[in-house]
Amino acid sequence: MGKLIIISAPSGAGKSTLINHLLSIRNDLSFSISATSRSPRGSEKNGVEYYFLSPETFKQKIQNQEFIEYEEVYPNCFYGTLKSEVDNALKNNKTILFDIDVKGGINIKNIYKEKAISIFIEPPSIEALKERLSKRNTDSKEMIEKRVAKATEEMSYASQFDVKIINDNLDTAKKTIETIIKNFLEND
Ligand code: ADP
Ligand code: 5GP
Repeated sequence: MGKLIIISAPSGAGKSTLINHLLSIRNDLSFSISATSRSPRGSEKNGVEYYFLSPETFKQKIQNQEFIEYEEVYPNCFYGTLKSEVDNALKNNKTILFDIDVKGGINIKNIYKEKAISIFIEPPSIEALKERLSKRNTDSKEMIEKRVAKATEEMSYASQFDVKIINDNLDTAKKTIETIIKNFLEND
């Protein structure tokens, strides 16, 4: 059975940046494409970053028990991991990489235990987070405020993760995460 790498963080801490880096340097990792009821942002495409579903379709899939886990991460904004996505990867002995909110990350770790490593990415400060989200220029001012407001609560879950990485200097954070994953995948 393949292994699972869980990456969680407050929005803007640098999860996607670090995940894209890992996917670009290792071809043994496959990204878990989540379903979401939010609209695509920037250049996002259906079936690449997410499966973009209408709120009705998302709720239907909840009813059909198609999710391993799902959360209403922001009011009226649902995100979930489809059972089919994970089962396919694990059956094919692939290591699957999750970009997931803190509660979802803790849930997946509890299900797969030692087959999974949970990594929390921490920003150097809430101020830095705010600045990164503004500079990313993909969310409205209102959405940035919602994301920043949630960050303090999310940071309080850091101690429940196997590993914590502070993403201050990006090159250092990339090297740190590379080493952690190499060690996890090389040790049974
Ligand atoms: P997340 O996926 O956690 O929401 P992103 O990876 O989209 O975060 O990063 C948010 C923004 O911050 C992006 O514009 C990214 O380029 C930038 N960023 C990521 N890491 C750093 C860093 N160490 N220093 C400065 N900016 C960063
Ligand atoms: P974004 O809108 O920035 O892409 O994602 C918002 C938050 O939802 C992030 O913390 C992201 O990790 C989380 N998220 C993405 N997919 C899932 C998922 O399948 N389940 C859960 N619980 N959270 C997810």
